[in-house]
Amino acid sequence: MNPKARNQPVPHRIPREQHTISRKNISKAALRVLYRLNEAGYNAYLVGGAVRDLLLGGHPKDFDVATSATPDEVKKLFRNCRLIGRRFRLAHVVYGNEIIEVATFRGTSEEQGEGDRHIVDGRILRDNVWGTIEEDALRRDFRVNAMYYDISDFSVRDYVGGIQDLKDRVLRLIGDPATRYREDPVRMLRAARLAAKLDFRIDPEAAAPFAELGPLLSSVASARLFDESLKMFLTGHGFKSFRMLEQCGLLKFMFPATMRALMRGDKALRSLIEHGLENTDTRVVDGKSVTPAFLFAVLLWGEVRDLAHTWATHGKDAGEAWSRAAAHVIAEQCQRVAIPRRFIITMEEIWLLQPRFEQIQRKKVFRLLAHPRFRAAFDFLLLRAAESTAIGELGQWWGHAQQLPHETLAASLPLYHAGSTGDLDSARAAAPHKRKRRRKPADGKSGAS
Ligand code: ATP
Ligand code: MG
Repeated sequence: MNPKARNQPVPHRIPREQHTISRKNISKAALRVLYRLNEAGYNAYLVGGAVRDLLLGGHPKDFDVATSATPDEVKKLFRNCRLIGRRFRLAHVVYGNEIIEVATFRGTSEEQGEGDRHIVDGRILRDNVWGTIEEDALRRDFRVNAMYYDISDFSVRDYVGGIQDLKDRVLRLIGDPATRYREDPVRMLRAARLAAKLDFRIDPEAAAPFAELGPLLSSVASARLFDESLKMFLTGHGFKSFRMLEQCGLLKFMFPATMRALMRGDKALRSLIEHGLENTDTRVVDGKSVTPAFLFAVLLWGEVRDLAHTWATHGKDAGEAWSRAAAHVIAEQCQRVAIPRRFIITMEEIWLLQPRFEQIQRKKVFRLLAHPRFRAAFDFLLLRAAESTAIGELGQWWGHAQQLPHETLAASLPLYHAGSTGDLDSARAAAPHKRKRRRKPADGKSGAS
Protein backbone atom coordinates (compact mmCIF):
# COMPACT_ATOMS: atom_id res chain seq x y z
CA MET A 1 0.00 0.00 0.00
CA ASN A 2 1.16 3.47 -0.76
CA PRO A 3 2.56 4.84 2.52
CA LYS A 4 0.93 8.15 1.76
CA ALA A 5 -2.42 6.38 1.90
CA ARG A 6 -2.47 6.71 5.70
CA ASN A 7 -5.18 9.07 6.99
CA GLN A 8 -6.82 9.14 3.64
CA PRO A 9 -10.47 10.07 3.44
CA VAL A 10 -13.00 7.42 2.56
CA PRO A 11 -15.15 8.35 -0.42
CA HIS A 12 -18.83 8.60 -0.19
CA ARG A 13 -19.92 7.23 -3.55
CA ILE A 14 -23.21 8.44 -4.94
CA PRO A 15 -24.38 6.19 -7.78
CA ARG A 16 -25.83 7.64 -10.99
CA GLU A 17 -29.45 7.06 -9.99
CA GLN A 18 -29.01 9.03 -6.78
CA HIS A 19 -27.69 12.30 -8.18
CA THR A 20 -28.83 14.76 -10.82
CA ILE A 21 -25.75 15.16 -13.01
CA SER A 22 -26.58 14.28 -16.58
CA ARG A 23 -24.10 14.09 -19.45
CA LYS A 24 -26.46 16.34 -21.38
CA ASN A 25 -25.25 19.21 -19.24
CA ILE A 26 -21.55 18.48 -19.62
CA SER A 27 -19.78 20.08 -22.56
CA LYS A 28 -18.99 17.80 -25.49
CA ALA A 29 -15.35 18.76 -25.28
CA ALA A 30 -15.12 17.77 -21.61
CA LEU A 31 -16.83 14.44 -22.32
CA ARG A 32 -14.41 13.72 -25.17
CA VAL A 33 -11.43 14.37 -22.89
CA LEU A 34 -12.88 12.20 -20.13
CA TYR A 35 -13.65 9.29 -22.46
CA ARG A 36 -10.30 9.40 -24.23
CA LEU A 37 -8.37 9.36 -20.94
CA ASN A 38 -10.56 6.55 -19.64
CA GLU A 39 -10.14 4.46 -22.80
CA ALA A 40 -6.36 4.88 -22.53
CA GLY A 41 -6.51 3.25 -19.10
CA TYR A 42 -6.30 6.32 -16.88
CA ASN A 43 -8.79 7.44 -14.24
CA ALA A 44 -10.64 10.53 -15.36
CA TYR A 45 -13.07 12.70 -13.46
CA LEU A 46 -14.89 15.93 -13.87
CA VAL A 47 -14.00 17.93 -10.79
CA GLY A 48 -14.29 21.16 -8.84
CA GLY A 49 -16.67 23.98 -9.68
CA ALA A 50 -18.28 22.10 -12.57
CA VAL A 51 -19.45 19.21 -10.36
CA ARG A 52 -20.55 21.66 -7.67
CA ASP A 53 -22.52 23.80 -10.13
CA LEU A 54 -24.09 20.79 -11.88
CA LEU A 55 -25.25 19.39 -8.54
CA LEU A 56 -26.77 22.79 -7.77
CA GLY A 57 -28.60 22.69 -11.11
CA GLY A 58 -26.49 25.47 -12.61
CA HIS A 59 -24.51 25.77 -15.82
CA PRO A 60 -20.76 25.61 -15.19
CA LYS A 61 -18.72 28.19 -17.06
CA ASP A 62 -15.74 25.89 -17.34
CA PHE A 63 -15.14 22.17 -17.04
CA ASP A 64 -12.06 20.91 -15.25
CA VAL A 65 -10.80 17.37 -15.41
CA ALA A 66 -8.65 15.51 -12.88
CA THR A 67 -6.77 12.42 -13.95
CA SER A 68 -4.17 9.86 -12.97
CA ALA A 69 -2.29 10.62 -16.22
CA THR A 70 0.73 12.91 -15.89
CA PRO A 71 0.83 16.10 -18.02
CA ASP A 72 3.24 14.43 -20.46
CA GLU A 73 0.94 11.42 -20.77
CA VAL A 74 -2.01 13.72 -21.41
CA LYS A 75 -0.01 15.53 -24.09
CA LYS A 76 0.66 12.24 -25.88
CA LEU A 77 -3.07 11.46 -26.02
CA PHE A 78 -4.27 14.78 -27.45
CA ARG A 79 -2.91 16.56 -30.47
CA ASN A 80 -4.78 19.73 -29.47
CA CYS A 81 -3.01 19.90 -26.12
CA ARG A 82 -0.50 22.32 -24.63
CA LEU A 83 1.18 22.18 -21.26
CA ILE A 84 1.05 25.35 -19.21
CA GLY A 85 1.98 26.74 -15.81
CA ARG A 86 5.11 26.52 -13.75
CA ARG A 87 3.56 26.74 -10.29
CA PHE A 88 0.92 24.21 -11.22
CA ARG A 89 1.72 22.24 -14.34
CA LEU A 90 -1.47 21.59 -16.25
CA ALA A 91 -2.58 20.39 -19.64
CA HIS A 92 -4.96 22.48 -21.70
CA VAL A 93 -6.90 20.56 -24.32
CA VAL A 94 -8.35 22.94 -26.85
CA TYR A 95 -11.54 22.43 -28.88
CA GLY A 96 -12.45 25.53 -30.86
CA ASN A 97 -12.81 28.28 -28.28
CA GLU A 98 -13.31 25.88 -25.40
CA ILE A 99 -10.39 24.90 -23.21
CA ILE A 100 -10.59 21.88 -20.95
CA GLU A 101 -8.12 22.09 -18.09
CA VAL A 102 -6.70 18.67 -17.28
CA ALA A 103 -4.82 18.40 -13.97
CA THR A 104 -2.94 15.40 -12.67
CA PHE A 105 -3.94 14.30 -9.13
CA ARG A 106 -1.78 16.21 -6.69
CA GLY A 107 -0.19 14.56 -3.67
CA THR A 108 -0.17 15.75 -0.07
CA SER A 109 3.42 14.91 0.80
CA GLU A 110 4.80 17.65 3.01
CA GLU A 111 8.37 16.63 2.36
CA GLN A 112 10.21 19.09 0.24
CA GLY A 113 12.49 17.64 -2.32
CA GLU A 114 10.05 14.93 -3.24
CA GLY A 115 8.58 15.61 -6.65
CA ASP A 116 8.48 19.30 -7.36
CA ARG A 117 6.91 21.21 -4.52
CA HIS A 118 8.28 24.45 -3.17
CA ILE A 119 7.00 25.86 0.10
CA VAL A 120 8.29 29.08 1.70
CA ASP A 121 6.86 30.32 5.02
CA GLY A 122 3.89 28.00 4.65
CA ARG A 123 3.19 29.37 1.18
CA ILE A 124 2.96 26.87 -1.67
CA LEU A 125 4.97 28.45 -4.45
CA ARG A 126 5.06 25.44 -6.68
CA ASP A 127 3.13 22.20 -6.51
CA ASN A 128 3.91 19.50 -9.00
CA VAL A 129 3.89 16.44 -6.78
CA TRP A 130 1.59 13.80 -8.20
CA GLY A 131 -0.60 11.69 -5.95
CA THR A 132 -3.82 9.77 -5.58
CA ILE A 133 -7.36 11.03 -6.01
CA GLU A 134 -7.81 10.93 -2.22
CA GLU A 135 -4.81 13.21 -1.78
CA ASP A 136 -5.99 15.41 -4.59
CA ALA A 137 -9.32 15.93 -2.81
CA LEU A 138 -7.53 17.15 0.33
CA ARG A 139 -5.51 19.73 -1.60
CA ARG A 140 -8.59 21.50 -2.92
CA ASP A 141 -9.91 24.56 -1.17
CA PHE A 142 -13.57 24.12 -0.15
CA ARG A 143 -15.42 20.91 0.57
CA VAL A 144 -17.99 21.75 -2.11
CA ASN A 145 -15.11 22.03 -4.61
CA ALA A 146 -13.73 18.55 -3.94
CA MET A 147 -16.30 16.31 -5.59
CA TYR A 148 -15.50 14.10 -8.57
CA TYR A 149 -17.78 12.85 -11.32
CA ASP A 150 -16.48 9.48 -12.48
CA ILE A 151 -16.82 8.98 -16.24
CA SER A 152 -16.39 5.18 -15.90
CA ASP A 153 -19.66 4.67 -14.00
CA PHE A 154 -21.23 8.17 -13.83
CA SER A 155 -21.12 8.17 -10.03
CA VAL A 156 -20.09 11.14 -7.88
CA ARG A 157 -17.36 10.73 -5.28
CA ASP A 158 -17.42 12.94 -2.26
CA TYR A 159 -14.34 12.58 -0.04
CA VAL A 160 -14.75 15.42 2.42
CA GLY A 161 -18.45 16.17 2.95
CA GLY A 162 -19.12 18.40 -0.03
CA ILE A 163 -22.65 17.07 -0.55
CA GLN A 164 -23.60 17.99 3.00
CA ASP A 165 -22.22 21.51 2.55
CA LEU A 166 -24.17 21.91 -0.69
CA LYS A 167 -27.31 21.03 1.26
CA ASP A 168 -26.37 23.45 4.05
CA ARG A 169 -25.33 26.10 1.50
CA VAL A 170 -22.09 26.74 3.32
CA LEU A 171 -18.44 27.12 2.31
CA ARG A 172 -16.13 25.17 4.58
CA LEU A 173 -12.42 24.89 4.02
CA ILE A 174 -10.76 21.51 3.91
CA GLY A 175 -8.33 21.31 6.84
CA ASP A 176 -7.19 24.10 9.13
CA PRO A 177 -8.34 27.44 7.65
CA ALA A 178 -5.32 29.49 8.74
CA THR A 179 -2.90 26.93 7.31
CA ARG A 180 -4.83 26.77 4.05
CA TYR A 181 -4.88 30.59 3.71
CA ARG A 182 -1.16 30.78 4.46
CA GLU A 183 -0.52 28.22 1.72
CA ASP A 184 -2.47 30.41 -0.67
CA PRO A 185 -4.02 33.72 0.48
CA VAL A 186 -6.16 33.92 -2.68
CA ARG A 187 -8.39 31.30 -1.04
CA MET A 188 -9.75 34.14 1.14
CA LEU A 189 -10.89 35.98 -1.97
CA ARG A 190 -12.28 32.79 -3.40
CA ALA A 191 -14.37 32.36 -0.25
CA ALA A 192 -15.90 35.82 -0.72
CA ARG A 193 -16.36 35.34 -4.46
CA LEU A 194 -17.95 31.90 -4.24
CA ALA A 195 -20.22 32.96 -1.36
CA ALA A 196 -21.45 35.79 -3.59
CA LYS A 197 -21.77 33.64 -6.70
CA LEU A 198 -23.53 30.71 -5.04
CA ASP A 199 -25.41 32.68 -2.42
CA PHE A 200 -23.77 30.54 0.27
CA ARG A 201 -22.62 31.62 3.69
CA ILE A 202 -19.01 31.33 4.74
CA ASP A 203 -18.52 29.00 7.69
CA PRO A 204 -17.47 31.12 10.73
CA GLU A 205 -14.31 29.04 11.10
CA ALA A 206 -13.36 29.80 7.51
CA ALA A 207 -14.07 33.51 7.97
CA ALA A 208 -12.30 33.89 11.33
CA PRO A 209 -8.73 34.31 9.99
CA PHE A 210 -9.61 37.03 7.45
CA ALA A 211 -8.69 39.95 9.72
CA GLU A 212 -5.34 38.50 10.72
CA LEU A 213 -4.34 36.94 7.40
CA GLY A 214 -5.89 39.44 4.96
CA PRO A 215 -2.59 41.38 4.80
CA LEU A 216 -0.99 38.31 3.18
CA LEU A 217 -2.87 39.28 0.03
CA SER A 218 -0.37 42.07 -0.51
CA SER A 219 2.26 39.46 -1.32
CA VAL A 220 0.19 37.70 -3.98
CA ALA A 221 1.28 38.32 -7.58
CA SER A 222 -0.65 41.34 -8.85
CA ALA A 223 -1.37 39.61 -12.18
CA ARG A 224 -3.15 36.82 -10.32
CA LEU A 225 -5.22 39.36 -8.39
CA PHE A 226 -6.19 40.98 -11.67
CA ASP A 227 -7.53 37.62 -12.93
CA GLU A 228 -9.31 37.08 -9.64
CA SER A 229 -10.89 40.54 -9.74
CA LEU A 230 -12.31 39.82 -13.20
CA LYS A 231 -13.87 36.61 -11.89
CA MET A 232 -15.32 38.59 -9.00
CA PHE A 233 -16.69 41.56 -10.87
CA LEU A 234 -17.25 40.61 -14.49
CA THR A 235 -19.06 37.28 -14.30
CA GLY A 236 -22.54 38.45 -13.37
CA HIS A 237 -22.33 38.74 -9.58
CA GLY A 238 -20.08 41.76 -9.17
CA PHE A 239 -22.43 43.66 -6.91
CA LYS A 240 -22.72 40.80 -4.45
CA SER A 241 -18.97 40.13 -4.62
CA PHE A 242 -18.27 43.74 -3.71
CA ARG A 243 -20.63 43.58 -0.74
CA MET A 244 -19.10 40.31 0.37
CA LEU A 245 -15.52 41.60 0.06
CA GLU A 246 -16.48 44.56 2.22
CA GLN A 247 -18.26 42.40 4.79
CA CYS A 248 -15.27 40.07 4.98
CA GLY A 249 -12.95 43.05 5.54
CA LEU A 250 -10.93 42.10 2.43
CA LEU A 251 -11.73 45.06 0.19
CA LYS A 252 -8.95 47.19 1.63
CA PHE A 253 -6.32 44.66 0.65
CA MET A 254 -7.34 44.67 -2.99
CA PHE A 255 -8.63 48.20 -3.48
CA PRO A 256 -7.15 50.43 -0.77
CA ALA A 257 -8.05 53.67 -2.59
CA THR A 258 -11.68 52.59 -2.94
CA MET A 259 -11.79 51.71 0.73
CA ARG A 260 -10.32 55.08 1.73
CA ALA A 261 -12.84 57.00 -0.36
CA LEU A 262 -15.73 54.99 1.09
CA MET A 263 -14.39 55.52 4.61
CA ARG A 264 -14.69 59.26 4.03
CA GLY A 265 -18.44 58.56 4.00
CA ASP A 266 -18.79 59.28 0.30
CA LYS A 267 -22.41 58.23 -0.32
CA ALA A 268 -22.30 59.30 -3.96
CA LEU A 269 -19.31 57.05 -4.55
CA ARG A 270 -21.11 54.11 -2.98
CA SER A 271 -24.07 54.77 -5.25
CA LEU A 272 -21.78 55.02 -8.30
CA ILE A 273 -20.04 51.76 -7.47
CA GLU A 274 -23.23 49.88 -6.68
CA HIS A 275 -25.07 51.08 -9.77
CA GLY A 276 -21.99 50.53 -11.93
CA LEU A 277 -21.68 46.95 -10.71
CA GLU A 278 -25.41 46.29 -11.05
CA ASN A 279 -25.40 47.59 -14.64
CA THR A 280 -22.38 45.43 -15.41
CA ASP A 281 -24.07 42.35 -13.91
CA THR A 282 -27.14 42.96 -16.06
CA ARG A 283 -24.99 43.27 -19.18
CA VAL A 284 -23.19 40.01 -18.39
CA VAL A 285 -26.51 38.21 -17.83
CA ASP A 286 -27.79 39.62 -21.14
CA GLY A 287 -24.67 38.37 -22.92
CA LYS A 288 -23.38 41.87 -23.73
CA SER A 289 -19.74 42.85 -23.69
CA VAL A 290 -18.14 44.33 -20.59
CA THR A 291 -14.72 45.88 -20.14
CA PRO A 292 -12.46 45.83 -17.10
CA ALA A 293 -11.59 49.47 -17.89
CA PHE A 294 -15.06 50.71 -16.96
CA LEU A 295 -15.10 48.55 -13.84
CA PHE A 296 -11.79 49.90 -12.52
CA ALA A 297 -12.76 53.45 -13.51
CA VAL A 298 -15.84 53.02 -11.31
CA LEU A 299 -13.97 51.52 -8.35
CA LEU A 300 -11.23 54.16 -8.27
CA TRP A 301 -13.19 57.26 -9.24
CA GLY A 302 -13.71 58.64 -5.70
CA GLU A 303 -10.02 58.87 -4.95
CA VAL A 304 -9.11 60.29 -8.37
CA ARG A 305 -11.79 63.00 -8.17
CA ASP A 306 -10.92 63.99 -4.59
CA LEU A 307 -7.19 64.15 -5.32
CA ALA A 308 -7.76 66.16 -8.50
CA HIS A 309 -9.94 68.65 -6.60
CA THR A 310 -7.39 68.97 -3.81
CA TRP A 311 -4.52 69.54 -6.20
CA ALA A 312 -6.52 71.96 -8.32
CA THR A 313 -7.38 74.07 -5.27
CA HIS A 314 -3.70 74.09 -4.37
CA GLY A 315 -2.95 76.03 -7.48
CA LYS A 316 -2.31 73.30 -10.03
CA ASP A 317 -3.77 73.75 -13.47
CA ALA A 318 -7.05 71.75 -13.55
CA GLY A 319 -6.01 69.57 -16.50
CA GLU A 320 -2.70 68.74 -14.91
CA ALA A 321 -4.35 68.05 -11.54
CA TRP A 322 -6.66 65.47 -13.18
CA SER A 323 -3.87 63.75 -15.12
CA ARG A 324 -1.64 63.54 -12.10
CA ALA A 325 -4.42 62.32 -9.83
CA ALA A 326 -5.27 59.58 -12.34
CA ALA A 327 -1.63 58.52 -12.68
CA HIS A 328 -1.13 58.53 -8.91
CA VAL A 329 -4.17 56.38 -8.13
CA ILE A 330 -3.40 53.95 -10.96
CA ALA A 331 0.21 53.54 -9.83
CA GLU A 332 -0.92 52.63 -6.31
CA GLN A 333 -3.63 50.27 -7.53
CA CYS A 334 -1.33 48.43 -9.92
CA GLN A 335 0.89 47.41 -7.04
CA ARG A 336 -2.03 45.28 -5.85
CA VAL A 337 -3.91 44.44 -9.02
CA ALA A 338 -1.97 44.55 -12.28
CA ILE A 339 -4.37 46.31 -14.64
CA PRO A 340 -3.06 45.87 -18.20
CA ARG A 341 -1.94 49.01 -20.00
CA ARG A 342 -4.71 48.96 -22.62
CA PHE A 343 -7.37 49.20 -19.90
CA ILE A 344 -5.49 51.94 -18.07
CA ILE A 345 -5.59 54.12 -21.16
CA THR A 346 -9.38 53.77 -21.39
CA MET A 347 -9.84 54.41 -17.66
CA GLU A 348 -7.85 57.61 -17.90
CA GLU A 349 -9.89 58.72 -20.88
CA ILE A 350 -13.17 58.08 -19.05
CA TRP A 351 -11.97 60.11 -16.05
CA LEU A 352 -10.35 62.94 -17.96
CA LEU A 353 -13.44 63.43 -20.10
CA GLN A 354 -15.59 64.05 -17.00
CA PRO A 355 -14.64 67.73 -16.48
CA ARG A 356 -15.14 68.27 -20.21
CA PHE A 357 -18.85 67.49 -19.86
CA GLU A 358 -19.12 70.75 -17.98
CA GLN A 359 -17.93 72.82 -20.92
CA ILE A 360 -21.12 73.69 -22.78
CA GLN A 361 -19.72 75.53 -25.72
CA ARG A 362 -20.39 74.75 -29.37
CA LYS A 363 -17.03 73.52 -30.60
CA LYS A 364 -16.25 71.69 -27.40
CA VAL A 365 -19.62 69.95 -27.26
CA PHE A 366 -19.22 68.60 -30.79
CA ARG A 367 -15.63 67.61 -30.17
CA LEU A 368 -16.69 65.65 -27.09
CA LEU A 369 -19.62 64.00 -28.88
CA ALA A 370 -17.20 62.77 -31.56
CA HIS A 371 -14.67 61.42 -29.04
CA PRO A 372 -14.17 57.65 -29.44
CA ARG A 373 -14.65 57.22 -25.68
CA PHE A 374 -17.72 59.46 -25.48
CA ARG A 375 -20.19 56.63 -24.91
CA ALA A 376 -18.31 55.10 -21.97
CA ALA A 377 -17.61 58.53 -20.47
CA PHE A 378 -21.27 59.51 -20.81
CA ASP A 379 -22.44 56.28 -19.17
CA PHE A 380 -20.00 57.10 -16.39
CA LEU A 381 -21.42 60.62 -16.07
CA LEU A 382 -24.90 59.11 -15.63
CA LEU A 383 -23.60 56.96 -12.80
CA ARG A 384 -22.30 60.10 -11.10
CA ALA A 385 -25.81 61.57 -10.80
CA ALA A 386 -25.82 61.10 -7.02
CA GLU A 387 -22.81 63.43 -6.65
CA SER A 388 -24.93 66.58 -7.00
CA THR A 389 -28.08 67.91 -8.62
CA ALA A 390 -25.85 69.74 -11.07
CA ILE A 391 -24.15 66.55 -12.22
CA GLY A 392 -27.55 64.86 -12.53
CA GLU A 393 -28.78 67.70 -14.72
CA LEU A 394 -25.61 67.63 -16.74
CA GLY A 395 -26.24 63.96 -17.46
CA GLN A 396 -29.75 64.79 -18.62
CA TRP A 397 -28.48 67.64 -20.79
CA TRP A 398 -26.01 65.40 -22.60
CA GLY A 399 -28.71 62.76 -22.95
CA HIS A 400 -30.93 65.29 -24.77
CA ALA A 401 -28.07 66.73 -26.75
CA GLN A 402 -27.19 63.38 -28.33
CA GLN A 403 -30.68 63.00 -29.74
CA LEU A 404 -30.85 66.37 -31.47
CA PRO A 405 -30.07 66.91 -35.11
CA HIS A 406 -26.70 68.56 -35.53
CA GLU A 407 -28.12 71.94 -36.65
CA THR A 408 -30.65 72.18 -33.82
CA LEU A 409 -28.01 71.44 -31.25
CA ALA A 410 -25.53 73.83 -32.83
CA ALA A 411 -28.12 76.64 -32.85
CA SER A 412 -28.86 76.11 -29.17
CA LEU A 413 -25.24 76.37 -28.06
CA PRO A 414 -23.22 79.44 -27.27
CA LEU A 415 -20.13 79.94 -29.39
CA TYR A 416 -18.12 80.71 -26.31
CA HIS A 417 -18.49 79.40 -22.85
CA ALA A 418 -19.58 82.35 -20.72
CA GLY A 419 -19.35 80.98 -17.20
CA SER A 420 -16.65 79.18 -15.34
CA THR A 421 -16.10 75.51 -15.92
CA GLY A 422 -18.93 73.60 -14.42
CA ASP A 423 -21.35 76.52 -14.64
CA LEU A 424 -24.61 74.66 -14.87
CA ASP A 425 -26.57 77.82 -15.53
CA SER A 426 -24.94 78.11 -18.91
CA ALA A 427 -25.72 74.45 -19.46
CA ARG A 428 -29.33 75.05 -18.57
CA ALA A 429 -29.49 78.14 -20.73
CA ALA A 430 -28.11 76.18 -23.61
CA ALA A 431 -30.17 73.10 -22.91
CA PRO A 432 -32.20 71.97 -25.89
CA HIS A 433 -35.25 71.63 -23.69
CA LYS A 434 -37.72 73.07 -26.17
CA ARG A 435 -38.29 69.63 -27.54
CA LYS A 436 -40.52 67.82 -25.09
CA ARG A 437 -39.64 64.45 -26.58
CA ARG A 438 -38.97 61.85 -23.95
CA ARG A 439 -35.38 60.90 -23.65
CA LYS A 440 -34.66 57.35 -24.64
CA PRO A 441 -33.95 55.42 -21.46
CA ALA A 442 -30.24 54.97 -20.90
CA ASP A 443 -29.46 51.69 -22.56
CA GLY A 444 -27.40 50.54 -19.63
CA LYS A 445 -24.25 50.35 -21.66
CA SER A 446 -22.34 51.18 -18.57
CA GLY A 447 -20.12 48.17 -18.84
CA ALA A 448 -19.27 48.78 -22.47
CA SER A 449 -16.19 50.35 -23.86
P1 ATP B 1 -15.75 29.02 -10.85
O1 ATP B 1 -17.18 28.71 -10.83
O2 ATP B 1 -15.46 30.44 -10.64
O3 ATP B 1 -15.01 28.44 -12.02
P2 ATP B 1 -14.25 27.07 -9.41
O4 ATP B 1 -14.37 26.53 -8.01
O5 ATP B 1 -14.49 26.10 -10.51
O6 ATP B 1 -15.20 28.32 -9.52
P3 ATP B 1 -11.70 27.40 -10.60
O7 ATP B 1 -10.72 28.50 -10.46
O8 ATP B 1 -12.27 27.07 -11.91
O9 ATP B 1 -12.84 27.71 -9.56
O10 ATP B 1 -10.99 26.12 -9.96
C1 ATP B 1 -11.41 24.79 -10.19
C2 ATP B 1 -11.18 23.94 -8.97
O11 ATP B 1 -9.80 23.92 -8.62
C3 ATP B 1 -11.87 24.44 -7.70
O12 ATP B 1 -13.22 24.03 -7.63
C4 ATP B 1 -11.01 23.81 -6.62
O13 ATP B 1 -11.31 22.45 -6.46
C5 ATP B 1 -9.63 23.92 -7.21
N1 ATP B 1 -8.97 25.20 -6.84
C6 ATP B 1 -8.97 26.34 -7.53
N2 ATP B 1 -8.25 27.28 -6.92
C7 ATP B 1 -7.77 26.70 -5.79
C8 ATP B 1 -6.93 27.15 -4.74
N3 ATP B 1 -6.45 28.39 -4.73
N4 ATP B 1 -6.61 26.26 -3.75
C9 ATP B 1 -7.09 25.00 -3.78
N5 ATP B 1 -7.88 24.53 -4.73
C10 ATP B 1 -8.22 25.35 -5.75
MG1 MG C 1 -14.24 26.49 -12.56
